[in-house]
Amino acid sequence: MAPASCALCQKAKAILKRPKTGQQICKECFFFVFETEVHHTITNAKLFKPGDKVAIGASGGKDSTVLAYVMKTLNERYNYGLDLYLLSIDEGITGYRDDSLETVKRNQQQYSLPLKILTYEELYGWTMDAIVSEIGKKNNCTFCGVFRRQALDRGASSLNVDHIVTGHNADDIAETVLMNVMRGDIARLGRCTLICTQGEDSIKRSKPFMYAYEKEIVMYAYFKKLDYFSTECIYSPDAYRGHARTFLKDLEVARPSAIIDIIHSGEAFGVREDVKVTQKPQQTCKRCGYMSSNDLCKACTLLEGLERGMANSVTTDRARKKLDALGPAPDNLRTIPQFRPAHLPVSVELPKTDL
Ligand SMILES: [Zn+2]
Ligand SMILES: [Zn+2]
Repeated sequence: MAPASCALCQKAKAILKRPKTGQQICKECFFFVFETEVHHTITNAKLFKPGDKVAIGASGGKDSTVLAYVMKTLNERYNYGLDLYLLSIDEGITGYRDDSLETVKRNQQQYSLPLKILTYEELYGWTMDAIVSEIGKKNNCTFCGVFRRQALDRGASSLNVDHIVTGHNADDIAETVLMNVMRGDIARLGRCTLICTQGEDSIKRSKPFMYAYEKEIVMYAYFKKLDYFSTECIYSPDAYRGHARTFLKDLEVARPSAIIDIIHSGEAFGVREDVKVTQKPQQTCKRCGYMSSNDLCKACTLLEGLERGMANSVTTDRARKKLDALGPAPDNLRTIPQFRPAHLPVSVELPKTDL
C-alpha cells in the first residue's frame, strides 16, 4: 500500500498520526495546526495585549521548552507585541534541577530571551536537598509546591512582569479535574479549568497549552529537535496524581478525546454563589507581605516549621496551631524577604465597591 498523503494539505506524505484527532498528516501541517490551536486558545481567552511583559515559567522540561519556542514563534508571527522572559526556579535538587537549568541556559541562547533564575537557597535559606535530608521524602512535595509558587511570583515581580505563563498541558488539567472530583474539592474544581487566574494584587497566571495534548507536545519537541531535559524529579512523585494519570492514560487509549472531554466537563461545572462566598478572602501575610488567606502565608508557616525543627508536622492545615503551641517564634527566626508586588498597569481591575 502506498503511503497515505497528508489529510490536511493532501500533498506531502503523511508521516505521523495526530494523537488528538487520529488524522494522518505531514510534519509541516502538524507544526501549523499545533501552533494555530495554541494561537486560538490565546486569542479566544484574550490572554495578552500589546506591550505586556510576560514571563515563561521555564524548567527545561518538554512542556516549558515547547511553550517558550511556541510563544516566541507566535509573538513574531502574529505581532502580539509581548516582551518575553524566561523565569526559572532553582529548587536546589542535585542531579536534577542543576542539569535541567543548564538546558534552560541553552534555551536562553537559542531563543535569545532574557533569563532570570531565582533559588530556594536565596529566598528561603533552604535547598530541597536540605529539606529532604531534614524531613525525608514523604512530604517534600508539599514544601516544594508552596515554595515554587511563591518563588515564581517573586521572580516575576523582580522582572516587573504582569503575567506568568506556565506549560501545564491538557493532560495535567484533566488529571487535576479528576483529582478534584475524587476529593470533592469544589473550590479547586471551579478554579482548575480557568485558563487564567489572578488573585487580588497577585500576578496573572495563564496556561496557553491547556488544550494541548502531552503526546503532541512531545511529538512537537521531537520533530522540531528542541533541546529539553527529560528526567523525572528524583524525589517522591505525587502518588495521588499518579493514580489519576494512570486512569487518564487508560481512558485515552480507549478514546483519545477523553482528555479534552474531561476538561470540558470541568469547565461546565457550575459552582453556586453561596458556595463561592464561603471561600476565605485574600489578605497579605503579616510576616512577608505575600498574599495569603490567613495571617501568615503557607510558605512562612512551612519555613518556620523547618527552622524550629518540626517540619514534618506542619504540612497539614493545622500547622499554625502546632507551631503556636510551641510558644512565639524566636526573634532570630529566618524569614522570607518582604514581598513587593510588581508595578501593575493601571488597567488592572480594582476591587469593586457598592455605589
Ligand atoms: Zn500536510
Ligand atoms: Zn509569608
